[in-house]
Amino acid sequence: MKNFIIALDGPAGSGKSTIAKIISKRMNLTYLDTGAMYRMVALYVKENRIDDYSAIETHFNNIDMDIVGERFFLNGRDVSEEIRTPEVTKIVSPISAIKCVREKLVKRQREISEGKSVILDGRDIGTVVFPNADLKIFLVASSEERAKRRLEEYQKKGIAQNFSDVLADIKQRDYIDMTRKESPLKKADDAIEIDTTKLSIDEVVDNILDLINRKVGE
Ligand code: C5P
Repeated sequence: MKNFIIALDGPAGSGKSTIAKIISKRMNLTYLDTGAMYRMVALYVKENRIDDYSAIETHFNNIDMDIVGERFFLNGRDVSEEIRTPEVTKIVSPISAIKCVREKLVKRQREISEGKSVILDGRDIGTVVFPNADLKIFLVASSEERAKRRLEEYQKKGIAQNFSDVLADIKQRDYIDMTRKESPLKKADDAIEIDTTKLSIDEVVDNILDLINRKVGE
């Protein structure tokens, strides 16, 4: 089979990473969590107290990212947990809206995917990173359901948050991601939309596996 590229886009909390991890294991695909890459840049900005985001480009040479399986390394340090904290989550969207950040990371995402069968999750995979992807899925869910899921994730990790703050953060990120000038979050014309609000993880996975099998059989 030729290399197969699956673009899995959608807003925060729509279920992308959970679903992508399962599909990648079931279909033996490489999984690339592109949001984690933007989060690593945000963590670097936070730790180095870079207040003027327009100066980020001058720091790129000092940002070395490595992805090993499901672990993320920033300048050699495992930051897989730190990139998911509410502090990083709060600043990641404005940083992701910066053109040079996107150019750098999109180039890296294409390099990592080169010669492989890959499932990538993000915001602009089907529209910008791989507009010719073999299959494009756009996951959506109500903002309340997405906030509920995010809150559960925080609770599992022992991070104290309340529902209204998480909901406000989700809405704020949606707004920035959808209205930014560079590669805004939007469904590609040829993407298949799945509303996961009332679906179980298994139902979404089965639905996508069906779509993959149909595509492979074409
Ligand atoms: O997917 P996740 O919620 O971890 O992504 C964090 C942030 O990174 C998003 O809110 C968005 O601002 C940015 N992002 C992006 N393009 C992607 C993936 C993530 O702009 N392909």
